[in-house]
Amino acid sequence: MTEEQDHGRRKATHGSRIDAYVDRYAARATGMVASEIRALFAVASRPEVVSLAGGMPYVTALPLDTVGELVADLVAQRGTVALQYGSGQGDPHLREQICEVMRLEGIEAGADDVVVTVGSQQALDLITRIFIDPGDVVLAEGPSYVGALGTFAAYQASVVHVTMDDQGLVPEALAETIESVERSGRRIKFLYTVPSFQNPAGVTLSPARRSQVMEVCRRADVLVVEDNPYGLLGFDGDPMRALRADDPDGVVYLGSFSKTLAPGFRVGWALAPHAVRDKLVLAMESAVLSHSSFAQLAVGQYLATQPWEEQIKSFRELYRERRDAMLGSLEALMPPGCAWTRPAGGFFVWMTLPERLDSKAILPRAVAERVAFVPGTGFYADGSGARNMRLSYCYPEPDRIREGVRRLAGVVQQELRL
Ligand code: PMP
Repeated sequence: MTEEQDHGRRKATHGSRIDAYVDRYAARATGMVASEIRALFAVASRPEVVSLAGGMPYVTALPLDTVGELVADLVAQRGTVALQYGSGQGDPHLREQICEVMRLEGIEAGADDVVVTVGSQQALDLITRIFIDPGDVVLAEGPSYVGALGTFAAYQASVVHVTMDDQGLVPEALAETIESVERSGRRIKFLYTVPSFQNPAGVTLSPARRSQVMEVCRRADVLVVEDNPYGLLGFDGDPMRALRADDPDGVVYLGSFSKTLAPGFRVGWALAPHAVRDKLVLAMESAVLSHSSFAQLAVGQYLATQPWEEQIKSFRELYRERRDAMLGSLEALMPPGCAWTRPAGGFFVWMTLPERLDSKAILPRAVAERVAFVPGTGFYADGSGARNMRLSYCYPEPDRIREGVRRLAGVVQQELRL
C-alpha cells in the first residue's frame, strides 16, 4: 500500500468503528479485547443505577485533608527526590516498609527481594512477560480475576482452570489438572491464585488446604503466583498466613496498597526469589524506566506518619457492614434456586442463578431496572460462568446495596416467570 492509500484508508475509517489496522497488529494483540467490566462502566456509573459491578475501594473514607497535607509537605521537603527519576526496583525505604506490612501475614523477607510496581496489575504483567511463551499453560482458579485473565491473554498464555469450592482451590483437582496438562505435553509455567477473599468468588483457601495446595505444587515443581490485594481486609480475627510465608523459593507474592490505602497512588509490589527478582527489575525498567518517585514517597510518608493499621481496621469495619447488608438482603429477597458465597473479607459475592437463567442475557433488563452486576463469563477463559454473576459491596453505602439487591431480586423473579 502506498502512503497516499494508507492515508486515504485512515481518513475513510476515521470516526467509524471499522479498524483500518486490523491486519497489521501483532498476533498477541488479538488477545487484547475489552473486558465485560470495562464495557459496563459507562452504564453502571449513571447516578440512578445502583452499581454492584465495579470493585472500587471506598476512598471517601480516607482522611483526605491529612493526605493532602502530607503530599504538600513531601513536595516542600523532599521535592527534588520526589520529582526525580528513581530506581527500577523502587524506593529502598518504601521496600523496607512493605516488608513490615507483609509481616502481618507471617512473611519474613528482606527489602532486597521486593520490586515496587505500578499496582499489582503491573506485577502481573511483568511476571507474565518473563515467564510466558505463546501456548504455555497458566493454572488459575475457576473463576479467576478478570484483569489477570486479560494479561494472560495478551501474552497468549493458555489458561486452564482448576476447580474451586467454598474452601478455595481443591487440592485433588489441582493435582489431577497438573497431571492431565503434563500428559498432553504442554508446559505449566505457574499457578495463579488469589487465596484470600478471592476476586470474584469471595472465597478463601482454608489453612488445611493451604499446605495441601503448596505440597501439590512442590511435588509437581509448579511455581505459585500468590496475588493478595485483599489479605488484610478480613472481617474476623487476624490475617491469614500467606502461602509465601512458608515457601520463599516456590512463590512469587504480589501485594498492593490499592485496597488498604488508595488505588490512585498505583503502588503495588512483587516479592520474588532472587533470580526472578532480577528479571522483574529488568522488565520493569524496560516497561517504565522507574515507577513514580512521587507516588512511592507519598505512600512511604503515609505509612511513616499515619496510623495505617487503624485505617485498615476501619476499612474492615466499613466493608463488613456492607457485606452484611448484601448477605442479609440476598437471604431475604432472592428466589429459591439462587445460591451465593459468604465472603469473610474483601469486596465480592459470587452468585449462581437457577438452572436455565443466563446472567449476560439478564443484564440489560437489570440495567433497565437500575441495577448493574458483572456477568460470570468474563471470569473464565473457557466460556463457563453463564449462570454466575459477581456482586460487589465495596462502594455503595448499605442502603443502596439493599436497594440494589431488591431491584436485582425483582429482575430474577421476573426471569423465572418468563
Ligand atoms: N489482583 C486482584 C485479585 C485484584 O482484584 C486487583 C484489583 N481489582 C488487582 C490485582 C490489581 O490491583 P492494583 O493494580 O490496583 O494493585
